[in-house]
Amino acid sequence: MRAAIATAAAAATLALAVPAHAAPFTPTPGADGVGDPLYPTLGNGGYDVRHYDLSFDFTPVTYDFRATMKIRARATQDLSSFNLDVDALTVDTVEVEGARATWTTAPGQTGQELTVTPARPLRDHRTFDVEVTYHGNGKTKPAGLPGWRLMSDGGFASAAQASRADTFAPVNDHPSDKATWTFHLTAPKGWTPAANGTLTGRRDAPGAGRTWDFALNSPMAPELLGISVNRQSYLYGRGPHGVRLRHLVPEDQVARYRPVVEETGGQLAWLERTLGVRYPFDTYGVQIVRDGYGDALENQTLSLFGPGWFERPTYSTTMVHELTHQWFGDSVTPTTWQDAWLNEGPAVFYAAVWADQKGFQPIEEKMRTAYAKLDEVRKTDGPPGKPTGLGGFNIYDGAAVTLYALRQQIGQDEFDAVMKAWLTGHRHANASTEDFVDNAVKVTGDASVGVFLRHWLFDLDNPPMPGHPDWS
Ligand SMILES: [Zn+2]
Repeated sequence: MRAAIATAAAAATLALAVPAHAAPFTPTPGADGVGDPLYPTLGNGGYDVRHYDLSFDFTPVTYDFRATMKIRARATQDLSSFNLDVDALTVDTVEVEGARATWTTAPGQTGQELTVTPARPLRDHRTFDVEVTYHGNGKTKPAGLPGWRLMSDGGFASAAQASRADTFAPVNDHPSDKATWTFHLTAPKGWTPAANGTLTGRRDAPGAGRTWDFALNSPMAPELLGISVNRQSYLYGRGPHGVRLRHLVPEDQVARYRPVVEETGGQLAWLERTLGVRYPFDTYGVQIVRDGYGDALENQTLSLFGPGWFERPTYSTTMVHELTHQWFGDSVTPTTWQDAWLNEGPAVFYAAVWADQKGFQPIEEKMRTAYAKLDEVRKTDGPPGKPTGLGGFNIYDGAAVTLYALRQQIGQDEFDAVMKAWLTGHRHANASTEDFVDNAVKVTGDASVGVFLRHWLFDLDNPPMPGHPDWS
């Protein structure tokens, strides 16, 4: 910004001298947390990661790994030192700008803080490179929840939400710091690695291994890290307008899961029609693991599923939930974890629209039940826009009811316009609850929509449901 106000002539004059208006160089340590309202110690301050390049050499069955993380970041202050998040990783070396840095690890609230002191302090606005070599074992118990999901074949998959990317690699583990990624996953021949983004190459590695290269060109929050090495098979397809589909299923269960993953193309087309916004990435896929994981997770471009879902007749509802997250959560990412309803609300809501259209459950029935429960949950776990934690009913079905109420209030067409503007206006960026309210007011041109939303998001009692005066 400072440069922008200098004229070209002034810049030329000053080119050989230190500009008179240059800020003094006062390096101080970067913060050990970003100050998230729910989890203040997550992530770190003082820099903004631009790119992560992860080389990860994994030995199946024993779970040993050796890895190198290269980070390109931009300083957002003069830095004497800065932190990265690590947990259950053994750091071997740290370099900054090609020079050996000093570093320490200390217990943090949700794992470890790796504090790096570069040989020379870093100037505000400058881009700098960090390289961390480290090793570990996937069976090591981290300080907090697990990120590693261990499979009975000796492989693994990452399920890093909300802050467990740091059990795989040193990162700035907060959704507000999105970056592009490249991956180089090495495994013995016969084992199949996968990662977010597109497979760009395969090559022989020293020993009996192969290295698989992947690139994710759209920015991703660390929580959406999706790496794995398993006895698994790739299945390929095409979605609407040429979206490349690549799915992963256990290699001995291809016949069982092929028809399931082939439903993805139709789900993509349905969501694009329903949202009026194209799928935000150039590739997508469904990863079904054999065991070791029972949930479902919207890892960017490669949603992860435990096998149990596919024993239910309504499994496609869960597939649509995770697919919806690729727009809501992955492309448009909440600024803080307090805004998590912006992820889960739309995922539950559009999955309910899908379930209604498929004849699984009428949306009115689901929303009526959720509305009744939400009134109590607001008082115990907080309202949808101000939860006391993650994973609760308030930010899932409670947030979906909030969106349903908005649709009841402003009508289908205005609702669709609000959601479309949200997705296009904040594509591949971060956005907050306040941004959502502002967007709704702007699109409808009606300030009362903001008041309406604030009641639904922040009140400790349910507001009345428009169009359903009998709901209580
Ligand atoms: Zn979800």
